[in-house]
This record gives sequence, C-alpha cells and structure tokens, in this order.
Amino acid sequence: MMNYIREPSYYDDLYDLLTVQECLRAESLSALDSEPEGKLPEQKIKKIWQKVGNDLYLYYKKGERYQNKSKVIADWKLRDEQLQDIYDHTLVPRLPYCNLCNGILKVIDKNLIDYDDKKPHLEFMVECQNCNKKSEVNEDGSFRVRKPKRCIKCSSEVTTTYSRTKQVITTTYSCSACGYAESDTLDLSADDSEYKKRQAEDRVLLDKYRSKYCLSEKEGQDFVRDTLQIEISTKHFKELAEKKADPSYQVAQSIKKSSIVEIETLINKSLDHTGYTNLSLDKPEIDRYVIVPFTILESKIERSEWDSKHDLQKLLIKTLEPTNWRLMSAGISYRMGYLSGKLKAYETTDDLMKMVKQGKNLDETNENS
Ligand SMILES: [Zn+2]
Ligand SMILES: [Zn+2]
Repeated sequence: MMNYIREPSYYDDLYDLLTVQECLRAESLSALDSEPEGKLPEQKIKKIWQKVGNDLYLYYKKGERYQNKSKVIADWKLRDEQLQDIYDHTLVPRLPYCNLCNGILKVIDKNLIDYDDKKPHLEFMVECQNCNKKSEVNEDGSFRVRKPKRCIKCSSEVTTTYSRTKQVITTTYSCSACGYAESDTLDLSADDSEYKKRQAEDRVLLDKYRSKYCLSEKEGQDFVRDTLQIEISTKHFKELAEKKADPSYQVAQSIKKSSIVEIETLINKSLDHTGYTNLSLDKPEIDRYVIVPFTILESKIERSEWDSKHDLQKLLIKTLEPTNWRLMSAGISYRMGYLSGKLKAYETTDDLMKMVKQGKNLDETNENS
C-alpha cells in the first residue's frame, strides 16, 4: 500500500527549503560578482549600488516566493492526490495466461509508473499459480515487454540474474555469445543512510534560514501592499511623463485662462465694424465646464441669414482661438436678427489638451465627459 498524499507540513517545509536554497544561491552569486571595494569615490558608489541591486533582487525574490507559495503547494497536493487515486482505483485488467505454461496468473503487487513520458499509470506484478514465473502486466492486460539488454562487447542479448543478501542486491549481466559479464550492486543500507543524511542537512538549512528568507504572513502581506503601491506610483509617473512628452501639453500649459469679463471685452472688440452689435451674456451653467449662452444682434439688414450665421461663427472661432474658451458645437442660431450660441471654458490641463488637439474646429468634446 502506497501513500502519495503527505502531511501539510511536508509541503510547507519542502517549499520553504527550495526558497532558502534559491535565496542562498542568489546571495552566493552576488558575493562572487562583487569586486572588492576600491579607494576611489566612484568605486565606493559602484559598490553601494551593487549592494542596493542585490538587496532589491532578494527583496523581490522573497516576496515572489511568498506570493506563489499557496498556488504551488496546491498543485503539488493535487498531483499527489491524482497519483493516489490512480494507485487506489485503477482496476485490475483481465489477466492473460502464463506465457510459459498457460497457467493462471495472480496479481501479487502493483507499481505506479511516474517517470517515463507517459501519464502516470499502474503496472501489475503477476505470478503464475502453476510454474511461479513472475511477470509484469500493463493496465490494458498485455504483458510488459522490456527492451532486452545488449552486451556492450558484441551486442548479443545478455542474461540478467539477481542475487540478494539482506542489504545488497547484485545484478549480473552475462553474455553467452562472448562470455563478457558485468554486475551492478545496490547497497540498500547505504542508500538509506545517504537519504537520511541529506534530510538532516536540509533540516539544518531550513531551521537556520527559514525566518530570514521565508516571509511570515504579515511580512508577506506588507510586501504585497508595498509592491502594489510602487506599481501605482510607477504608473502615475509614467503617465505624467507621457503627458509631458505630448506636444499639446506644452501648448495647453501656455494658454492663459481668461475670465468671462476678459472674453466679453475681447469679443466686443472683434465685433467693431462687422455689423454685429449688442453682445449679451446669459446666466452661466456651472458644472464640470462653465458654459455661457449669449446673443448678438445683426445690424446689417441686407446680410442673409446663412451669411449672418457663418460670418459670426468664423469671427468667434478666430477671436477665441488663443484663449481657453470655445464656441460650442451647435454653432450659431439665427432668429429675427438675434444670433445665439454658447461659449464653453476649459480649465484643467487634461481638458485644455483635448481642446488643443481639436485645433480650430468647433468644440466637439462631450459636455458631460
Ligand atoms: Zn506458468
Ligand atoms: Zn557479448
């Protein structure tokens, strides 16, 4: 019976051990990289920057390991649960008969195969009830065929024999064609002690460095919050830099913001000798933008309605161009010698940039946007 699912502390320790090893590797690399501190000021500065760079790398490495931890551990657990499920629930196939004596085979053991390219699967150890020959059967009930081992001298097929003392398994390959023989020994006690030694070393490493490299819940949350803030301000600076690089930004900055009284004076001046008179401003709508309705009288009786509207529109567009005010897109209406329209003021840098981009055209920005 195999147990693939481990205690929660197993996954936790394993993940933290990998974090410790990764951070130690990064620190030893940076120690290798750094030159001895020189006497010149620039050498000292270089050294300081190197230190800052290494510390920063480690800061992010630790944070990243913290952030990925639960996801990685969940993946490991899921994998182990899948293996356990395959081991526990794969059905025994319909077994073939012994290929030596046609006797009935019986399953004596099963093995989970998780190291070749195929997805994890089971292999069944079977034994003939009649001649006791042992063989391996795949999940589909076919005999598992191993590639025959070949003699390294003459390439003939070799015979494999095993012998086992309590702790040592010896495998001997002998070639009947040329007489060459070789053997492998597997010392089970050595294997086990080697494994135990490594485990003890890992434990020492973990106890010594865990608090240094593996962030606690609180440190981890601080990291998440701090990096989020850094991200936000970096984005902000980037946007600001982009805005400043935009040519319309400089233009927008250079536009003087005029009050309605200044605009009234400016328009009145431009109306001189044009046949338009009596500029009158109405009550303003003050919301996101300041919008001021106005009327002007047509005094040239011979001018057609169409000409009257278009001449005034052209005049106002030209007059307002250097200012932060624009004639609104509805343009000018004409009734019984009354010309009316709306003026709109741009105040913020973003709005002024939009205005600059529209050029000499009528205002097209949405009033509410
Ligand atoms: Zn048999
Ligand atoms: Zn041989």
